[in-house]
This record gives sequence, structure tokens and C-alpha cells, in this order.
Amino acid sequence: MAPLRFASEKNYDHLIKLLLIGDSGVGKSSLLLRFSDSYFTTSYITTLGIDYKNRAIELDGKKIMLQVWDTAGQERFRTITTAYYRGAMGILLVYDVTDESSFNNITNWIRSIEQHSSDNIVNKILVGNKVDMDESKRAVPFSKGQALANKYGIKFFETSAKTNLNVDEAFFSIARDIKQRLPDSKK
Ligand code: GDP
Ligand code: MG
Repeated sequence: MAPLRFASEKNYDHLIKLLLIGDSGVGKSSLLLRFSDSYFTTSYITTLGIDYKNRAIELDGKKIMLQVWDTAGQERFRTITTAYYRGAMGILLVYDVTDESSFNNITNWIRSIEQHSSDNIVNKILVGNKVDMDESKRAVPFSKGQALANKYGIKFFETSAKTNLNVDEAFFSIARDIKQRLPDSKK
């Protein structure tokens, strides 16, 4: 899908702030690059220290500016602060399907989100990334991911930032859930 270009920065109906959360190395920055720039690199890109990237999408006739925030390595020490969570409308909880501990830590991340984010409603989805890797490397079966998502009442996607599998689908899905609870903004 070609990225939409809006004539001016303010020419949208909604601005939706999303966060990528999860252990270091699961592919958060790769998912962001894939989603915003249709790009993938095999080198670690955490050091780039990107704050966020915007991508304009259209949902049910509305122009949505998705502002997706990435961590610049703070997740390594789980020192993500309240400031980072501020204003977040949705969170993509990401693990690596070849790394069981990244999956087990999702529960800790959810706890951390609950501690740091204010009373605002925050939509969440669960994302199991790197499904392109050899099946022999898989440490977390699809059914376990789905079961965890069901436990929290959230949606679940298995993705690959590398082969571009389900990346748009995951971002569009959470954007749609958020849009549904927003008051319709006037132009
Ligand atoms: P982050 O620390 O969560 O931001 O993870 P990165 O995006 O920096 O990715 C960590 C490593 O995993 C890099 O070497 C990426 O190239 C690799 N990676 C990320 N996503 C995928 C994927 O979908 N498939 C494969 N095979 N490798 C991936
Ligand atoms: Mg990163």
C-alpha cells in the first residue's frame, strides 16, 4: 500500500499516538521502519535513537495520522518512564516467536504499563514477530500467543518485519479500535 501524503501536517481528522513496547531485540524498530518507510535492515537500529515516525493512513473515509513512538534502548533495563507513556492511545506489545523469555516478559510489560500510564484508556495488541524464521527456531507456538491475548482480551497478530507479513494489518487493527472510541472530529 503506497503511503498517503496529506497536503499539510494538520490535514487529518485524528492524530493517534502509538507505542512499541517489548524486550530489546524483538524487532520493534524494524516493525516501525517497515510500517513507516517500507524498509528492513538486518543491523541493529536501536542506536539511531528515533523518537517517533508518522504515517498517514485512511480508515473508513477518515484521515488518520499515526504517530508511532519507538524506544531508544531504554527497554533493555526496563526503565521506560511515565513521560514515554503520556498521551499514548495504543500500545503494541511485541515479542519474538523465537525467544521464549521475550514472550514471558509480556506480562511484566503489561504490569509496567499499568503502573506508568494514567487513567486514560489505552488499547493494546499483542504481536509475535519474526515468524519468517525457520520453524525449528520457533519457541512460542501460535496457540500460546493467542491464549495470552485472549487472557487480556486483546487482539493478536504474528508478524514479520523482514518479509512484511501482517505488519500493516497489526497497525491498522489497533488504529481502527482506537478510532472507534474517539469522538468524530470536525475538519
Ligand atoms: P528492537 O530492539 O526491538 O528495536 O529490535 P530491532 O528492530 O533492532 O531488531 C533486532 C534484530 O532482529 C535485528 O537484527 C533485526 O534485523 C532482526 N529482526 C527484526 N525483525 C525481524 C523479523 O521479522 N524477522 C527476522 N528474521 N529478523 C528480524
Ligand atoms: Mg529498537
